Amino acid sequence: MNELNFKQELTAAFGQPIAENPTQVMIEAAYRYHNLDWRYLTIEVGPNDLEDAVRGAKVMGFQGFNCTIPHKVNVIQYLDGLGESASLMGAVNCVVRRDGKWIGENTDGKGFVSSLRELTDPKGKKVIIFGAGGAARAISVEVALAGATSITIVNRSSERGEELTNLLNEKLPVTADFVSWTSTFTIPPDTDVLINATSIGLYPDLNARLDFDLETLTSNMVVADVIPNPPCTNLVKDARSKGCKVIDGLGMLVNQGVIGVKHWTGIDPDPSIMRSALEEVFG
Ligand code: NDP
Repeated sequence: MNELNFKQELTAAFGQPIAENPTQVMIEAAYRYHNLDWRYLTIEVGPNDLEDAVRGAKVMGFQGFNCTIPHKVNVIQYLDGLGESASLMGAVNCVVRRDGKWIGENTDGKGFVSSLRELTDPKGKKVIIFGAGGAARAISVEVALAGATSITIVNRSSERGEELTNLLNEKLPVTADFVSWTSTFTIPPDTDVLINATSIGLYPDLNARLDFDLETLTSNMVVADVIPNPPCTNLVKDARSKGCKVIDGLGMLVNQGVIGVKHWTGIDPDPSIMRSALEEVFG
């Protein structure tokens, strides 16, 4: 991957070219705060070099690594085992050395559920998720494992939406259904948690809004947005104005970092230090 492509990957995740990798800034802030003599490095690896990179990380004594698009699925063939949710999702974003073996985990959905638990227990809840891409997949699997009763996937493309819905129904203890998002969505009144897992609202699309009827959003619903940049999206603003409890996209990003640091170092890092570091990056 050349430098231009790498910047494009960061842009896809955060919406704008960012000089420093926000995840690196956040995790190194935790290492400094906890006096850990560790480094978290951002390293470009092209698709053809992935196997060598994974082997190289082991012989160089890495305790683990995060990987992102385009490696989340392909990395699996070079690992020694998978955690439960990474196996269900078929995607890995965090690799951990355990007894000399590389074990693949997926911390995106777990990070989301940690944020959600700060406001409500997912057990027994009815959940609506907009989106059916990688973020929606990670969140829906983890929310189902945490005991949600039903998940409705609302997505523009039917193919992706139905594939995710089938995965949930076949492999998880949850009832999932799919709604094709071709017109303004009406939120069912018994919804407990509403999640945006699309890229709608990501910088520079600051005026973008999810196409749902705002009148059907009520104050008893918890609303979550995955968009980290800007954290204060129109969905976050609209939900606050309706009196809903709200989780912004930094919550998920911070908590997946907290889980990664715990996996690698054994320490429970202070999330507030990590969030402050991210807020500085995003201005
Ligand atoms: P994907 O490309 O895998 O999926 C994008 C999803 O957004 C698809 O469901 C797509 O629908 C939908 N979508 C995009 N544009 C539109 C639109 N204009 N109208 C309707 N639907 C649309 O991306 P990811 O799932 O990997 O990432 C999604 C977002 O999540 C990104 O913005 C990323 O920044 C954020 N994210 C945040 C994390 C965090 O820690 N806060 C972690 C991971 C991701 P369709 O299938 O029809 O194309």
